Amino acid sequence: MAEGSAIQIPSRLPLLLTHEGVLLPGSTMRTSVDSPRNMQLVRSRLLKGTSLRSTIIGVIPNTSDPISDCDDLPSLHRIGTAALAVQVVGSNWPKPHYTLLVTGLCRFQILQLLKEKPYPVAEVEQLDRLEEFTNQHKSEEELGELSEQFYKYAVQLVEMLDMSVPAVAKLRRLLDNLPREVLPDILTSIIRTSNQEKLQILDAVRLEERFKMTIPLLVRQIEGLKLLQKTRKPKQDDDKRIVALRPNRRINHIPSTTEDEEEEEDHDDVVMLEKKIRASNMSEQALKLCLKEIKRLKKMPQSMPEYALTRNYLELMVELPWNKSTKDRLEIRAARILLDNDHYAMEKLKKRVLEYLAVRQLKNNLKGPILCFVGPPGVGKTSVGRSIAKTLGREFHRIALGGVCDQSDIRGHRRTYVGSMPGRIINGLKTVGVNNPVFLLDEVDKLGKSLQGDPAAALLEVLDPEQNHSFTDHYLNVAFDLSQVLFIATANTTATIPPALLDRMEIIQVPGYTQEEKIEIAHRHLIPKQLEQHGLTPQQIQIPQVTTLDIITRYTREAGVRSLDRKLGAICRAVAVKVAEGQHKETKPDRAEMGEGE
Ligand code: ADP
Repeated sequence: MAEGSAIQIPSRLPLLLTHEGVLLPGSTMRTSVDSPRNMQLVRSRLLKGTSLRSTIIGVIPNTSDPISDCDDLPSLHRIGTAALAVQVVGSNWPKPHYTLLVTGLCRFQILQLLKEKPYPVAEVEQLDRLEEFTNQHKSEEELGELSEQFYKYAVQLVEMLDMSVPAVAKLRRLLDNLPREVLPDILTSIIRTSNQEKLQILDAVRLEERFKMTIPLLVRQIEGLKLLQKTRKPKQDDDKRIVALRPNRRINHIPSTTEDEEEEEDHDDVVMLEKKIRASNMSEQALKLCLKEIKRLKKMPQSMPEYALTRNYLELMVELPWNKSTKDRLEIRAARILLDNDHYAMEKLKKRVLEYLAVRQLKNNLKGPILCFVGPPGVGKTSVGRSIAKTLGREFHRIALGGVCDQSDIRGHRRTYVGSMPGRIINGLKTVGVNNPVFLLDEVDKLGKSLQGDPAAALLEVLDPEQNHSFTDHYLNVAFDLSQVLFIATANTTATIPPALLDRMEIIQVPGYTQEEKIEIAHRHLIPKQLEQHGLTPQQIQIPQVTTLDIITRYTREAGVRSLDRKLGAICRAVAVKVAEGQHKETKPDRAEMGEGE
């Protein structure tokens, strides 16, 4: 496209509307095509079977709302760039789209829209790179001073970059070999400019105007580089590399709408993130992967959706407790006291839990079956789990499995699509911030199954001591050691627990309570807890045992104590209101206050 740069384009062009960036003559842009209109254009104009037909198309920056791209034709920008499609890559994932590589040839303006469907075609007039124009040496003389000034800045800019980078050296040669009139377009697409600025350059049809408008952009970039070099002085080597990287990637011309400062700041962010990664104690494998991602991040314009995705990923990796744990303390006698204090009755269960903890302590490892408490709701299964964590001095985290029917709930989504995230296990670890919590897998009997894979199989892997030291969440994509996590499960019934899971568990039945036990539990545990929650003192409300019995027999029908607890809560709320109103007399609660009495 060098000397004798005359081009002739057809008078009718199919139009490709892009909202990702502005293509200028002489530069190359990769653009993704997924609207029905653009897809149709690619199929009928650019593809011959599966190979590329070299056809000239008109690329029009779509300045209106990208969403409107779907139905009616938006109002079209009048000036566009005629372009040659150099490459077309089709993909069906995550949705059908093409990626086009287009090289800009020259400006054109739309004279008349000939048709709109299935894609727009227009009668056009070529605006530059015309025969008579390039032969007009006079124009160069007229522009002499302006173009000279422009050239000087361009050279200054390029010489500030790292010449050892091949792309920079090539750019330096281009400056001398290309006709001056094509340089404003090319440099504008290389340096850091917003889409708005590029659009202004596209609209500057007169060469003089184009030179005038590009000079301040060059100056801004030069000043920016100077500042960067000054602030980065201490790290000479890094410095050069950073400076060189940016223009380098701009040659590929990935459009970017961001402003200077923003990107600067962002770069500092990435440097910070890298430091955090190095300091995070993550596994060697994870560190390698993260550093690779950091490298990619540094080269990526932050306007790309992938940028945010990668950042989120790296931030999670830094936050995960790779090497952080609480120190176990276990004294069986203290554990017994604690369990007794927190729970009335359930002797069998408490005994079994203590044995379990004692064996664990003696063997000093967690291998062996997983405890699974099976019983009706409200009998204290979760509550015992919490006490176990407390006796061990460990963090506690409950993972509700009821209704989980997708294995990615456990194992995460692959990071390749937007909205992907880690599974509940990794999320739980992030929440507790240590790698040895007690995880209560609640309601393992309510796991579902669906087309998205069997969550029980994923859970098996989590629980298997032979495998779980290298559990690989799809999102993380590196192994995380789960071997220090203490898993406990709960279920209402064993009938629906997947057999393979059941096989790994030691079932401990937690039966319901008798009326007498419920009364004890209410007076020893539930009522004091409710009073405290409502800010009441025992002087303000006394609930006699007969009342509790009344509630149990007439207002609840359950094996556990959950609704009993709720009714007691309702009474406390009502009393709290009366206390607050100052009209409280010490009374027995009315029936009406217990809510939906039967
Ligand atoms: P589950 O997990 O079996 O459904 P929870 O552990 O959530 O039951 O128990 C419900 C409430 O009842 C909790 O506040 C719990 O402390 C209390 N609770 C249940 N059983 C007892 C018990 N034996 N002693 C003391 N409180 C109990």
